[in-house]
Amino acid sequence: MSEIKAPKGTRDIFAPEIDTWRFLENAIHTYYRKFLFQEIRTPIFEHSELFRRGIGDETEVVQKEMYTFRDKSDRSLTLRPENTASVVRAAIESNFFETMTPLRFYYIGPMFRYDKPQKGRFRQFHQYGVEIFADETPQVDAEVIFSAVDFLKKLEIADLQLDLNSVGCPQCRPPYLHVLRQAARAHETELCSDCRRKIDANPLRIFDCKKPPCEAVAGRLPLLSDHLCGECRNHFAAVREALSWMNVPFRLNPRLVRGLDYYTKTAFEITSGQLGAQNALLGGGRYDNLIRDLGGPDMVGIGFAAGMERIILHLGHLQAQPLRVLFVAYGDPRWLAHAVQLAQVLREEGFPVLLDFQGKSLKKQFKKADRSAAAFTLVLAEDEIRSGTVSIKDMARQEQVNIPLKELNAWLKKNY
Ligand SMILES: [Zn+2]
Ligand SMILES: [Zn+2]
Repeated sequence: MSEIKAPKGTRDIFAPEIDTWRFLENAIHTYYRKFLFQEIRTPIFEHSELFRRGIGDETEVVQKEMYTFRDKSDRSLTLRPENTASVVRAAIESNFFETMTPLRFYYIGPMFRYDKPQKGRFRQFHQYGVEIFADETPQVDAEVIFSAVDFLKKLEIADLQLDLNSVGCPQCRPPYLHVLRQAARAHETELCSDCRRKIDANPLRIFDCKKPPCEAVAGRLPLLSDHLCGECRNHFAAVREALSWMNVPFRLNPRLVRGLDYYTKTAFEITSGQLGAQNALLGGGRYDNLIRDLGGPDMVGIGFAAGMERIILHLGHLQAQPLRVLFVAYGDPRWLAHAVQLAQVLREEGFPVLLDFQGKSLKKQFKKADRSAAAFTLVLAEDEIRSGTVSIKDMARQEQVNIPLKELNAWLKKNY
């Protein structure tokens, strides 16, 4: 029979990398509690309609990257490609907009996109992110951005760069899109076929195209930042001012448009140059119409999502502490019961303990202890059982002591 492998774009996570994942997850839980965010876990799959309406029919994500399938009752379901639409859906469904203050959520979990797999990018990937609803102040934008940067800094990720833009609102975007379309049409022949299609459907997406001719055209297209309405301009100025209070440096990037349609006003992205080229770690922004568009009240929102695989790549410097194993060995199968009970006592005290139920000879057990990288091997043999002692071998130093069993705990406190 042929071997079954993991699907393309997925991967298994093992020790010791899994320790880094657990470290990152714990850090997220601890950090975001300080800002009164509460964790939310939404389903892995949702009605496809949620993402089509939430993310936008014309986005790459919806058009090319969704894992959409029909279940046995012929419902169209989609593995979530991101979590914001789901969190909004959950808040509407649970009536949180009327019952909860503050409306601050964070999440950690797998997302799914049919994307081209590459280093740090998978089809099943993990994100953590935050969402704040019903706060339209520019200062809350700055607080969210501060938390995003500060958290990555605390992970000691080097060379962080914050890019900031305003992508406008329903007042100023349509007139700008009109100007943008006209300008793009003037360069139509220089654009790739994808971008030519985007002129009508969603011309902002032309700024996302990585093909050099399109990038050259994009460099000459009019910018939304020059066409913001008064409200968007004021909001953006206040965000920048609050960021300066918080001592968060940023770079204005007028070509930063996020890949999802729901963003309004503030948009931002954080990259790191730690691994050479700038790597995007996290992106987000304000979405003032999404909640209403998904059938909720007319309330605003802001949030971000961070790619955990990318962040893990940047945490290579965090070496997890190897387990200091206590290996319990016994000189004869007759002493197995004693060994089992000693292991129980030690685990109760919090020590990681291994013993070999098949232990044929002490020599073989010592070999196993070596292969398990045990710190100490505790031996129960005839002499020890008779005298109520235990022999402890320090595996690194190759030294052995014999002590009364009842002193073992005190000995370990001193020497472990
Ligand atoms: Zn505006
Ligand atoms: Zn293009």
